[in-house]
Amino acid sequence: MTPRCSWMWRRARCMLLGRSRSAATGRCLGAERTLTSTSHPPKICIVGSGPAGFYTAQHLLKHTQAVVDIYEKLPVPFGLVRFGVAPDHPEVKNVINTFTQTAHSERCCFIGNVTVGRDVTVEELRKAYDAIVLSYGAEDKRELEIPGEELPGVYSARDFVGWYNGLPDNRHLSPDLGSETAVILGQGNVALDIARILLSPLELLKKTDITQSALEAISHSRVKRVWLIGRRGPLQVAFTIKELREMIHLPGTRPINDPSDFYGLGDIVKDLPRPRKRLTELLVKSALEKPKERDCSHLAQSDREWGLRFFRKPVAVLLSEDGKRAAGVRLSVTRLEGVGDTAVAVPTGQVEEIRCGLILSSIGYKSVPISPVVPFRPNKGVIPNSMGRVQGTPGLYCSGWVKRGPTGVITTTMADSFDTAQALLEDIKSGALPLSEPRPGSSAIRELLLLRGIQTVSFSDWEKIDAVEVARGAEVGKPREKISDSEEMMRLICR
Ligand code: FAD
Ligand code: NAP
Repeated sequence: MTPRCSWMWRRARCMLLGRSRSAATGRCLGAERTLTSTSHPPKICIVGSGPAGFYTAQHLLKHTQAVVDIYEKLPVPFGLVRFGVAPDHPEVKNVINTFTQTAHSERCCFIGNVTVGRDVTVEELRKAYDAIVLSYGAEDKRELEIPGEELPGVYSARDFVGWYNGLPDNRHLSPDLGSETAVILGQGNVALDIARILLSPLELLKKTDITQSALEAISHSRVKRVWLIGRRGPLQVAFTIKELREMIHLPGTRPINDPSDFYGLGDIVKDLPRPRKRLTELLVKSALEKPKERDCSHLAQSDREWGLRFFRKPVAVLLSEDGKRAAGVRLSVTRLEGVGDTAVAVPTGQVEEIRCGLILSSIGYKSVPISPVVPFRPNKGVIPNSMGRVQGTPGLYCSGWVKRGPTGVITTTMADSFDTAQALLEDIKSGALPLSEPRPGSSAIRELLLLRGIQTVSFSDWEKIDAVEVARGAEVGKPREKISDSEEMMRLICR
């Protein structure tokens, strides 16, 4: 029996036992019925339950009587808040409380374990709903497009982060942490997250929601030194000050930056725009200033180290002598043409090599097209839109990373999701989004999904999974022990 068939079977069994999915989601269906009998509030469908999906829903629910259904590919909600945000940043995950409030609204329904574009098409959703908001993020990795990228020992940040965060697709990654030197290509916040996870003392990680298997692997890790490689200079790093500060003060580690990279920057700093100014000041300070006495003992006791290498563009992954795996990376030395954020790295012709057994490519994420009927700009990896209105496709909207590209923190995503929701509301008001005939909403889609053998997951199902994760975590002193096997999640909700 395929997993999908077995879920179908269990679903039938659940129904026989009187614990049907419709019982679990009765609140949502009931709400739809009440609303449609009195008036015709819009039925809106959101694709993706990350910050963009939830913030769009929040705004729509607050300002209309709309019924909002959120379809999610995974059996669990919250997108990168669960599968991206670093385990040692629990405070960032507090947004989940707000999302949970939204999900508990009588007019909101979470429908998990449904991949739009595969289990149900965008066209089918368009027939069932008055409007669709595509908030499905940037799921893929950007490729380096250099020889050797596919070798064992080279991992994308997306997969590595997914692995330590319990993303079902990455649960078997099993990265090789057997070498002393690791190289991270890219100097963004994801690169710093990974460096921190690789170098953090185990006692710190043990108290987080990092998966047990990742903790186990890291406890045997031999990695002692991490280089973060940027193709441009210190004035172009993509990480932010809070994350740099955290790295500088990471217990048991010390920065090993080359002071010559920072000479002269002190004079430029005063003319920089504010966030960049403060970030550069900290970089310069940590590289050039003599550490204070109290910091000296911390540094002397540190047996792990990390450093930033600038003006180095990766051109090839080096092959080990036995020809089986990665053994290092070849870098082209660059110089900048132009100044500031828009400066471009051009090769000087000089190359150098770093020997290492672990290479992590952290050069960003990438959105993928979801349907031939949805316009997509592959070079930028975004859905072309104006204020969230998908170009040339009335009734279709987008928010979050698929709208503006894979950059920006949760608050940026919140602001752009509110903008999209506002554009949708204005279209309802102006008549640009006609609500002439009542739509069937989720009932039509559920019928299709049932026929296709897809078992959906409701928010209360997720709450069962959540409770098990929290209970398992409590046994080992962690906030939760994430379940990374989708099959196990589906078994839990049918119990
Ligand atoms: P996502 O969060 O990716 O949500 C998209 C959702 O859509 C996912 O749940 C996905 O499963 C679902 N989906 C995809 N395809 C389909 C489909 N076909 N059908 C149905 N559903 C689908 N920001 C901070 O403020 N603080 C941090 O500490 C922080 N850490 C980060 C760490 C990492 C590793 C990364 C990559 C980003 C981090 N960010 C952080 C940025 C933040 O996560 C993003 O701004 C935000 O998650 C983008 O929201 P989104 O909803 O557009 O995308
Ligand atoms: P990012 O911020 O865009 O950084 C990508 C890095 O990769 C940059 O240093 C970039 O250098 C480099 N790069 C891109 N293409 C390259 C190539 N072909 N060769 C070599 N280097 C290349 O992306 P990210 O780190 O994936 O982060 C995504 C977003 O999530 C960011 O907005 C980030 O702030 C956010 N985030 C936030 C947190 C947090 O708040 N704690 C944590 C994680 C992520 P160039 O500048 O030269 O292109």
